Amino acid sequence: MPVLMFIMDGLPDRPVGGKTPLTVAKKPKLDKIAEIGVNGIMDTISPGIRPGSDTSHLALLGYDPYRFYTGRGPIEAAGVGIELKPGDVAFRANFATVVGNGRVFDKVVVDRRAGRIEQTEDLVKALNEIDLDVEFEVARATGHRAVVVFRGISSAELGETDPKVVGEKVKTCKPLNDSARRAAEIVNEFMQKAHEVLDRHPLNLEREKKGLPKANAILLRGAGVMKEIPSFRDKYGLDLAVVSATALIKGVGKIVGGEVFTPAGATGNKKTDLEAKMNAALDLLKKKDVVLLHIKAPDEIGHDRDFDGKVEFLERLDSYLDKILELDFSKNCLIVTSDHSTPVTVGEHTADPVVVSVVHEGVRVDDVKRFTEFDAPKGGLCRIRGMDLLNIALDLLNLSKKFGA
Ligand code: ZN
Ligand code: ZN
Repeated sequence: MPVLMFIMDGLPDRPVGGKTPLTVAKKPKLDKIAEIGVNGIMDTISPGIRPGSDTSHLALLGYDPYRFYTGRGPIEAAGVGIELKPGDVAFRANFATVVGNGRVFDKVVVDRRAGRIEQTEDLVKALNEIDLDVEFEVARATGHRAVVVFRGISSAELGETDPKVVGEKVKTCKPLNDSARRAAEIVNEFMQKAHEVLDRHPLNLEREKKGLPKANAILLRGAGVMKEIPSFRDKYGLDLAVVSATALIKGVGKIVGGEVFTPAGATGNKKTDLEAKMNAALDLLKKKDVVLLHIKAPDEIGHDRDFDGKVEFLERLDSYLDKILELDFSKNCLIVTSDHSTPVTVGEHTADPVVVSVVHEGVRVDDVKRFTEFDAPKGGLCRIRGMDLLNIALDLLNLSKKFGA
């Protein structure tokens, strides 16, 4: 009795001249889903709260983000494959170019992306050989990005070492309270040693010869401490699989103990191989109880403020929904929704509620026939919270537990 949660990141919009990409796009299959399902709108976190993709995905999986959110660092770290334990502190990191004399903190950042360096395997390897008082791990993320995890230092009350703008000095990591003092010292020691190792690394000497910016510092931000979080299996007695190409979403899946899949060709942008993603999700649906299929592109296009781009992507996406419509809805439950709105007029996430359709043999089908921001509120689901969503699906499948006698 599996559940397919199909999440179109940042899809819903605010109207422009009364229209949104969802009302303009030709999307017969998404509309069919609305027609055969029960529809509504959803505040993934709470009305008026602008959700991040991480906090909203936690909520969609039934985890209260106010209780379980770790900050972005640990989620990104989990997303790139680092196993985290409670008490580990993770930062997001950038390879950067610094110039000047003295210690790393005396030097000025001239390129926060080190010329958008791509090949960082050897640099990461060298960083992991640094001698430090605590255990730590550096892992590559996409492009010039990386994550750094300090094991068991517990306090994430730590400032950033990334000045965020070029022309400024590398910041020392400041403890934000007294108990973080030792942790900050460790981070600063790492910063200095990392700079020494990177600055003389053969790959950087080679880059210098070619006139490329050296990736000779690593800048840290977004510290978060890993929390004790019940696994999806412990919480629901069910297996979770996540299909996504986005480290942040894969990380959410990982920290709740889900299995994470990125099919070849999945890119996390509008060129992604939609067929590969659909096939992967439908395949997993035969083996897992809950499969979350995440499509990143609508959010990215929303950030780019590209109305027509959203329409175009939606129409392409719709053409891949046949197999989902062919599911046996006496056995499967299908949820089609988003983690938040990313209106093209704003270019950022907003708290405008998202559209949600739930399809299963047992749902009270309503009169809604189109999957849009304007039709959905007339449906039978009315307005729900993100944390209610999975409960609703599990109840439809008679998998939820009774509260009381
Ligand atoms: Zn999102
Ligand atoms: Zn976004």
